[in-house]
Amino acid sequence: MAESPVETGIPAAGASEPPAADGGAATRETVAEPAPAGGGGAAEAEHEAEWTALRREVDQCTACPLYQTRTQAVFGVGSHDASLMIVGEAPGADEDRLGEPFVGRAGRLLDEMLRAIGLAREQVYITNILKSRPPNNRDPRPEEIAACEGYLRRQIELIAPSIMLAVGRVSAQYLLDSDRPLGRLRGRWHEYGPRRTALLVTYHPAYLLRRPVEKRKAWADLKQVHGRLREPGS
Ligand code: URA
Repeated sequence: MAESPVETGIPAAGASEPPAADGGAATRETVAEPAPAGGGGAAEAEHEAEWTALRREVDQCTACPLYQTRTQAVFGVGSHDASLMIVGEAPGADEDRLGEPFVGRAGRLLDEMLRAIGLAREQVYITNILKSRPPNNRDPRPEEIAACEGYLRRQIELIAPSIMLAVGRVSAQYLLDSDRPLGRLRGRWHEYGPRRTALLVTYHPAYLLRRPVEKRKAWADLKQVHGRLREPGS
């Protein structure tokens, strides 16, 4: 695979190995509520019913005070069969307005990063630790995380991804139950939860927008994800 150009850090889609996924042109609307994959069946229907129930619970959640200031809950988006699950921190203003994670400037960079490893947004599952926006984009508070974490845990169980990517310090420290700085957590594989899911940490795209020089390291992280996704059984 090509190294990232110094200037941009993350190669443009199609400019590197592997090529961009053909799903790259799909619209957001097509991914808001994916149809059940495969031929259906009772287990599949039950699985989708669990998703619907969980989503309803999140939409109506009043477990922490953030429900009073949010426009809407931001549940998650993407494939329920995803091998790769991406976990961010909390919705920002754009996400709060549109009801979908990572749709602002940082989200567009995340899409670009995914395309650079041949993945369209529709092929992964993207969510946040918090489902409601903290006012003024402040960091999530421990009690807010505690109120919300059951939802994320359930999403992880339902997807059972082979790889998780924690983007940003808050996500990484929460998922790894660590207080180490992000720079100390990235660069090697971790395991998450009882299934010992392979977990990698990378920089938050909002940070990369402020510090483009770090895109090289993010690209190295993405290459790790790409390599692992190609392993048999992923
Ligand atoms: N930052 C996050 O961590 N998540 C989003 O959904 C948007 C910005």
